[in-house]
Order: sequence, then structure tokens, then C-alpha cells
Amino acid sequence: MLLPLLLLYTQSPAPAPTPTRTAPPFDHVILISVDGLRSDALLINGSEGLPHFQRLMYGAHTLNARCDPHYSVTLPNHTDMLTGRLVKGEGGHGWTSNATPPPEGILVNKEGGIFQGIYHQTSAAGIDDAFLASKPKFLLFTQSWNPTFDLRVMDVVLVKDDVEAQMDLVFQMLDEEQHQRSFTFLHLRGPDDAGHAEGWDMTPGSHYLKAVQDADRQIGRILTFLDEHQALRKSTALVVTADHGGGVPHKNHHGHGMMLVNTMIPFFIDLPESERIDLYQLCATTRRDPGIDPVANDADKLPPIRNGDAANLCLALLGLESIPGSTVNVAQDFVGALYQ
Ligand SMILES: [Zn+2]
Repeated sequence: MLLPLLLLYTQSPAPAPTPTRTAPPFDHVILISVDGLRSDALLINGSEGLPHFQRLMYGAHTLNARCDPHYSVTLPNHTDMLTGRLVKGEGGHGWTSNATPPPEGILVNKEGGIFQGIYHQTSAAGIDDAFLASKPKFLLFTQSWNPTFDLRVMDVVLVKDDVEAQMDLVFQMLDEEQHQRSFTFLHLRGPDDAGHAEGWDMTPGSHYLKAVQDADRQIGRILTFLDEHQALRKSTALVVTADHGGGVPHKNHHGHGMMLVNTMIPFFIDLPESERIDLYQLCATTRRDPGIDPVANDADKLPPIRNGDAANLCLALLGLESIPGSTVNVAQDFVGALYQ
């Protein structure tokens, strides 16, 4: 009762209390990469066909993110996403091949060391982590980061075309009796498979759009699970993006030429109490909306949001520092802007 009376005699009024938002660190972060997901596919099926992507569009997001400025294929872009580096340029990881690597293929730097990734940071912090990929080419990461049992930095590893097995492990990582804190990378390959088989076909009902709907269903399983477990929902963040789009110059390819349909991808940050925020507005001092520029790699301009932002963003959401030597989103811009 004393406080209001005291306030009456204060010379200057006390500042109005600012609402506080739940700040990081989150206990669980899930990074989902939807292989071959073109942003405009999310505008076609609408809320009936893609209810969960629609829901993500009510959080912090942009549909105008970009893949790596020189490569619109799977393996170089996932290396960006997991190491916080671009392929080329100062500090580039240099992995350009999109083929399944030979057994000796590893992410080695000029000094002969291994490029570090998200998993080195989570492991050092004692956070359980999972790597759930669905194409054999992702063995690049297990060969680099889990070369032997004693030297491994990834705790749970699955490289298999088996979405049910992947999803089982996603839910296991959210079981707090087993994992108090976790980072999970989930790679969904369906849209890319459909695109290569029958084209990045934007006709309603196409094989490609059905595959995008299936990715929506899988993401929906995670969102629904979190809805049903509110304590877990409050401590879990999702980041959803893609490695590349597709459709040019041949309808069932994506790697030849940096065309907008190949390079324009979505980027979503799903937090417990999401507000609809355009990520370019949120990060106006550090990122530039590239409009229809497919590459957006002008040295004298701010960079666009890229899938490579995901690595250090996920670490920031876990309350961890950026990957040593990384070059993309080193200052962990998004979280700072979201919670300032
Ligand atoms: Zn592909």
C-alpha cells in the first residue's frame, strides 16, 4: 500500500511498465528444412490445403528469403544452414558438390581442420541434439562431425528416407524425461522428389503441391503436439526454411542458373506467442528485402535473409553463442530484434 502514496510525491512520473515477452533461451529448438520448397507454392493451396504453413505465416516470417548466392542445390545450402557460412567468399565453406560424397568426403577447412556447425555448440553446452536427414548425400555431415563414436558431436543420427522414423525421433527429442534440452534438425525431402519426378508444377492438385501438403501435415503434427503440451510449447521454438525452390530452366530441375523460382524460399520463426511480423521490417537495419533480385549478393548492400541465417539463429534461441568462424548472422540479429 505504501508504493502508490510514495509515487504521489515523486517529481517525475515513473515510466510505464513495458510488457515483457518470454525471452530465450528456449529448451528445445527444431530446425526444419523442406527440400525444394518454393515460396509461391505456399500461396496456392491456401488455408484449406496448407493450414500449418498458413499458421506459420501468422508468426515472424518472410516468403522472400534466398538460398546461397551461388548455388541453388541441396548439399551446399544445407552446409550453409548448419555451419552459418556461405559457399564462396571470405570464410566460405567451399562445399559445391551436390552428389553423395565418397566415404572420405568431409567439410575440411584450409588449415586441415573440420568446419564447425550447430552441433559443436550444442554439444559443448550439454544440449542433446539430433540430425534427421532423408537423403544419403547428408552423410557428408555424419562423416565430418561423427567420424568415430568417440569423436562424435551429434547424439542422435538418422540418414534414411523414412519420414515416420524421423518424426518418431522428433517426438522423442521433445520427451523431457529423456532430454531436458534439445536441438533437432529435420530434413523433409518430399517436395524435391516430386519436383524432380513431375516438375515444380503450380497447378492445383499437382504431384508437387501434394508433396508440399504432406510437408505441411508433418509440420502440423509437431505444432499440434506442442498445442497439446502447453508447458513444452512455452519452451520450444521452430525455425522452418528450405534449401532451394525449383522449376527453371527445366520444369523438373533447380540447379542450373540463379533464377528467382529456384532461389526464393520461405523463412519462418515459430515462437510460443507468435505475432505476425515481417522479418525484413523486424531486421530493417541488418537485412534488405531483395525484391525480385534472385541472387541479392551486392557487397555494398545489406544482405537478404538467407537459409544460412538459420544456424546462428537456432543457437541464439537456445541461448548459445554463434559458431566460431561463421560469417552469416554472427550477431544473431533476429532474436535481438524480436526481444528488444
Ligand atoms: Zn533437388
